[in-house]
Amino acid sequence: MDRHAPGSRPAPSGYPLLVQPFQAAKPAVVLLDFYGTLARAVSRGPLAAELFARRGLSFDEPTWDHHRWDALDGLDHHEFSESREDYEAWEVDRLRRAAEACGVELDQAEELVAELYAASKEFTVSAYEEVAPVLQELRRRGLVLGVCSNWDWDLDRVLDEAGLTSRVDFAVTSARAGVRKPHPLIFRRALDLAGVGPAEAMFVGDSWEADVGGARSAGIAPVHVWREPSEPPPLVDGVRRIPDLRGLLDLA
Ligand SMILES: [Mg+2]
Repeated sequence: MDRHAPGSRPAPSGYPLLVQPFQAAKPAVVLLDFYGTLARAVSRGPLAAELFARRGLSFDEPTWDHHRWDALDGLDHHEFSESREDYEAWEVDRLRRAAEACGVELDQAEELVAELYAASKEFTVSAYEEVAPVLQELRRRGLVLGVCSNWDWDLDRVLDEAGLTSRVDFAVTSARAGVRKPHPLIFRRALDLAGVGPAEAMFVGDSWEADVGGARSAGIAPVHVWREPSEPPPLVDGVRRIPDLRGLLDLA
């Protein structure tokens, strides 16, 4: 999955205004992030910290998080997106490098990496309760709906598991697109599939950087979903915020 705990990280201070003004008109297309926006994990495999501890290895969480997630944002990884095999080999290699960055010796890494990889695929997801009825209503209004996610090769599997496959018109996963949000090319890929330009679309997501920042840079009106009890990052011009997807019924 793209992040273990949506909203758990400090938000960046803001984004340069590259495209302005955003349109205030109703969009023709609504693009949506998946994890933390449409669905959440309801069960998961062991955390990396647990797998390290079982082997008596010390775990450095900031280093791990940096290598697992932060260093990936916005990445162009086309060379690893030619096939499922290429992508999965890259996933394993990233785990190996993250483990080594945490001080794991090469001779200890192989079995640990195999466990980490298995654990990274061991989860189940469920849609937030308001999501299906909201998507149904947006479709009734004639909107085209697309998912655009930093995810692995099998976004279709989790869309199915969350009961959302038939609720949307298309889905783009970074693994197959070869780029991760906030890279502009993944937003362009989603717009191309919808057959519209950025001014006709809205992007809805929970990540301040990947979703809101990426959409802004791509010229797509961002809507920030903030489901957390904690204080959200300060709003900036052109960004709207909703507490859950029901807020979209007033915007789209
Ligand atoms: Mg998300």
